Order: sequence, then C-alpha cells, then structure tokens
Amino acid sequence: MKTFCGRANPTTGAMEWLEEDEDYDYHQEIARSRYADMLHDKDRNTKYYQGIRAAVSRVKERGEKAIVLDIGTGTGLLSMMAASAGADFCYAIEVFRPMANAAVKIVEKNGFCDKIKVINKHSMEVTVGPGGDMQCRANILVTELFDTELIGEGALPTYEHAHKYLVEEGCEAVPHRARVYVQLVESRRMWSWKKLFPVHVKAEDGEKIIVSPSEMENCPGVPSVCDIQLNQMPSSDFTVLSDVVTMFSVDFSKPVRSASTHYRVELEPVKSGKAQVVLSWWDIDMDPSGMINCTMAPYWVKPTSASQWRDHWMQCVYFLPREEPVLQGEKVSLTACRDAYSVWYKLQKARGKEENKADVRVESPVCRCQAHLLWNRPRLGELNDQNRTHQYIKALMTVLHTDSICLCISDGSLLPVLARYLGAKQFFKANHLEDKIKIIEARPELLTPSQLEDKKISVLLGEPFFTTSLLPWHNLYFWYARTAVATHLASNVTVLPQAASLHMMIVEFQDLWRIRSPCGTCEGFDVQIMDDMINNSLNFRESKEAEPHPLWEYPCKSLSDPQEVLTFDFRKTVPQQCLGTEGSVSLLRKGKSHGAVLWMEYHLTADISVSTGLMDISNEKGNCEWNPHCKQAVYFFSSVIDSETLSDLPSAVTYAINFDPKTGEIAMDFKL
Ligand code: SAH
Repeated sequence: MKTFCGRANPTTGAMEWLEEDEDYDYHQEIARSRYADMLHDKDRNTKYYQGIRAAVSRVKERGEKAIVLDIGTGTGLLSMMAASAGADFCYAIEVFRPMANAAVKIVEKNGFCDKIKVINKHSMEVTVGPGGDMQCRANILVTELFDTELIGEGALPTYEHAHKYLVEEGCEAVPHRARVYVQLVESRRMWSWKKLFPVHVKAEDGEKIIVSPSEMENCPGVPSVCDIQLNQMPSSDFTVLSDVVTMFSVDFSKPVRSASTHYRVELEPVKSGKAQVVLSWWDIDMDPSGMINCTMAPYWVKPTSASQWRDHWMQCVYFLPREEPVLQGEKVSLTACRDAYSVWYKLQKARGKEENKADVRVESPVCRCQAHLLWNRPRLGELNDQNRTHQYIKALMTVLHTDSICLCISDGSLLPVLARYLGAKQFFKANHLEDKIKIIEARPELLTPSQLEDKKISVLLGEPFFTTSLLPWHNLYFWYARTAVATHLASNVTVLPQAASLHMMIVEFQDLWRIRSPCGTCEGFDVQIMDDMINNSLNFRESKEAEPHPLWEYPCKSLSDPQEVLTFDFRKTVPQQCLGTEGSVSLLRKGKSHGAVLWMEYHLTADISVSTGLMDISNEKGNCEWNPHCKQAVYFFSSVIDSETLSDLPSAVTYAINFDPKTGEIAMDFKL
C-alpha cells in the first residue's frame, strides 16, 4: 500500500506530497535503530550472559524448573542465552512486529525452537494460564528495556506489571538491580545549552549588551532528556563540585512501583562554585552479589570506561532550574523527582528535615518563556558562542550603513538585534526588542511591498539557520527564500552570507562505524538475519542517504584533505539546472575509509567565513575537531576499504555529487 504524506520540503520550503510505502516508517525505524549498536556492545552482552547463567543455576540448585520471561526480546538474544544456559523454557515477548518476526527466524536458525516461544505482544497484553500465552508464571525475569535515563523507555511500568501478573514472587531478575548516580558540576559549556548569556556588541557609540528577558532567566527549560557522549567532554570544560553519589536504585527482583516519587541526598561540595548541572549515569548489577556489573560511568570516574563504546546508553545532563552558588563543605540537598518515564532535579540548601518536607514537590520542567521551544540546546550553545558572534559582528560592520534597510531570514536569530545595535536604520523580521525592528510573520513568497513599507531591501541577512533543517544543506532554504523575495531587493543589495560551500572529507571513525556494521555472530549466536534486515531497510530507498550526526561526540580521523565540492552563490537566485560535480580525492593516510563527512561553510563576506563542520585537524594523526553546535552529514560507504592491509595506499576515492534545485536534495555516490 502507498500513502501520500504532505510535508514542507526542508530545503526548498515548498509543500510537497510524498508517496510513501506503508513500510517506510518501520524501515526507517530499523535502519536508524540501535539494535546493531547493542549487538556490538560486548561488555553488555557478556555480562548479561554471565548474569543469566548464574540465575539459571540458582533456580536449578533449588531443584526448580527454570522458566524465563524475556520482555523486549529484540533479536531473541537474551532468550537464546537463557536456553543455552539450561533454562527449561523461555517466553520471549516483543511488541514490534518486524522484530518479533526476525526473532522467530533467528531462534529457529540457532536451533532453539523447542525452548523459546516468541510472542508478538506488548508485555502488558500477555496472558498466563492454560490456553494463555504463557502456561505458567516465570521464575526468571530477563529484560533490557533501558535507555540512557534508565527509565525513559518505560522499564518501570513494564516491571510493575510483570511482577503483578507474569512472574512468581521471589523470582530471579537479570539485571538484579540498577543504581542511578549523580555528580554536581559547574560548566559554562553545558550551561550555555540552557541559558542565553549576555552578548557584548562593541558599536561606534560604545559597548551594548543584549540580555535575555527575565522570563527566560527564570524558565526551567524543557523536560526532554539531554543525553550525550560525556566521554567526549574534556575535563577542562567543567568543574566537579561534588563526589559521585547514588541518587536512587531499583531492585528488579521485587515488585516495582512506577508512580511518581522523589529521592533526596545530601551533598557536601568538594569545591566552591556555581552549581549548574547534574551529570548522571547508571549501572546495573546482573546478579544479587553485585559481582557482574555493567556501568556507564564516564572516564574521570572509571578510567577504562571509554574502552567499551556504546551509543545506545550514554550519560545524562540535567539542568538545575537556576544556577546556585555552593560553598566547599557547606551541605546542600539534591532532590531527584521522577514520574514513570523521566527524571528532573532541584538543589536546595540543606536544612532540618521537617523544614524541607514542605517543598519537596518540584514540578516537571515546562518551558514558560517559549525560548527553549524555539532554541534547542545545541542552538542555544551556538548563540552563546562568542567567537561565532564576533565573526557575524565583523561581517555586519562591513556591510551595514546608517541608511541600510535590512531583512533577516533565519529562525530565532539575533542578527537583527546585532545589526540594530551596529547602526542599521531599519529592520524587518526579528525579536520584539525595539520598534526599529519589525517582525513579519509571512512566508517569503507571500511578502508584500506594504509589509516592507514599500521600501527596497539593501541588506539581506541570514545566519542561515532554520529549525526544520536536519542535514547541513537544508539551510539552503535561505537561498530559496532569497529567490522568493527577489522583487523586494534593491538592485545593489548586499546578501550576507554572500555564498555557501559544501565540503567533504573521507574519514575513519573511532567507533561510530559500529552502528552501520554487520554483526554476524553475537556471543556465539548467529544474528545475520538481523544484519540482513538492517541492510534491507537501509537500502529501502534506491539511493543511499547521508545521515546527520554531531561529530564532536564521535571522534574520527581524516584520511583525505577536506575538499570543497559545491558552491552556492546567494547573490544570484537559485538556478534552474542541477549543480553537479565529479572528481576524486586522494587518500593521504592509512586507515579504514568508513565514509565521507559533508558540511556547509558560509561565506559571510568575501573574507569572513564560518564553518558548521570541520574546525581543525589537530595533528599528524589527522584527529578532527568539529563545530560543537552542529550536526554534520555522514555518508557511510557500503564496503570499508582498509588501507592498512594494502601495501600501497589506494590513491583516491572518486565521487559524484549533485544538487537538484527542484527537490533541494543532494545525491551522492562514491567509489573506492
Ligand atoms: N533484548 C534484546 C533487545 C533489547 S531492545 C537485546 O538485549 O539485544 C528492547 C526491545 O524491547 C525493543 O525491541 C522493544 O520493541 C521491546 N519492548 C520494549 N518494551 C516492551 C514491552 N513492554 N513489551 C514487549 N516488548 C517491549
């Protein structure tokens, strides 16, 4: 079946109807899923296996039959481990139909048909008893339902239900328990993801400061979890203010309650400073003794942690409602509140117990100022990047005159305010700061002369930035908008940026390659069916697509020089014909060519450019430094060439890259 889906094209801005196969969504889900990453997570897999073996042995030692309930079986992996460990029978529950189908095939291929029953249901729909899905309650409960926040995927309600209806009292659980850890830190970098810092503008008539309105200062922000690869955050970017403490723990072998609750700990700051964020991660003990432990602790807590890379479990950054000064040795109390699916934090001066009881209720953070809805965390970080702002100010100073009439096309941009402070006479579209700035709520093509007070625009500005952009080139929407407003522009209009260029580089990833790499066998089980399924989903559309990744979190080294592949001249309108290029890029270093990274650079003026991708290649090894606020496009090659194993470097990768102005899409092809 085909369905038509309406959407605004992120690049051209045009409304379009896409014919989508009904399977498109689930292919996307599988292609972008973390199953491959989980199967590559050796540390996780071996510890689950050990925990499952130990649990089966304990049950057998009691002289009981080992009946396993595996909730969220995915590929069937944990059930196959249990069956191999001697379990008498496993009920493998999986709600996502394509996965349940895959599990059936994988279980069959590995010869466990008679020991494992795959049930394609949500665990809360499973029935027990004669004629039900399960003959009887299980005495071993195995799951892997955790996200970076531990509970975000609904582990608590699932466990609560399972203990009530699906497992025996006193059952064995793998994992046996989880603990959530916290550490209080001060970090200008992370705090810049929540707050707008004052922007200093040096104008001719003195320094001006743009400050955020008080509603934004006091806004708790948004409730969505901020999960990052904390191991990529250099220690110079934060100051530890407290030791690591256990915030709360969950015993999975006992009845679990999912109802909202709170936990409180007293912290004694090890340093004075400004408490801004709570860093958090968890660990799980696979057995009651705690001997089999799998931890997400970051590098400064557990120096070997970086050795097990994983993307399906990272670490969390929680923003305190307000920055709180703390003094070394002067106790503070940290409250974690949670509902069934998420956690949030509050810090208070430690006082007597009775006094504190009154105000334990902390509301879940809901943005009241609107700014956190307009500016997501990386975007706030970008707006707070002083070097970047400085580049824009420098560029604005060269193009603005006292009689400039400016039009800015970008989402939630500070450019109008900057330009206003730098002396532009009149401004259209921006914030509400001054009456000299007028916001026009209209699509560029619907702009009328009267909305511009019959004036011609002398300076057209954009960062460009649009909230609808996923891939770097989606911000070319600026070019389409510029084309749509062409009749309103003065003949000698200045366009800032005057051009953009697309850049490309071949890289070897330290770890990110795993998410697209086949697994083959996992702990001795053949999971190739899963590999094939992911591959099939990746190739569901005939042409392969680039995917967005924030590469500051995913180290890689360059194997080629960065290369400019396409330029887009914003001084002219969008052309009718395709912009295409073909060429080859030489490989300079030995290594595995995992893929190409692509990013945009904006040429604000002839000699001021900003990069949304590569910032620096740090040393002879080719380690790359990426813009920390932007996602870059990654195109994974279908086969990896390892030049380490070749005596001669393969000389080059050839490429063909084509921009189609009708669709706004960039198609690419690479040959190694
Ligand atoms: N157990 C596998 C896969 C874990 S991923 C492994 O460890 O490799 C978690 C899986 O659980 C997903 O496939 C998801 O669809 C499924 N799931 C989550 N909650 C569920 C529930 N309550 N009932 C059934 N399946 C669930």
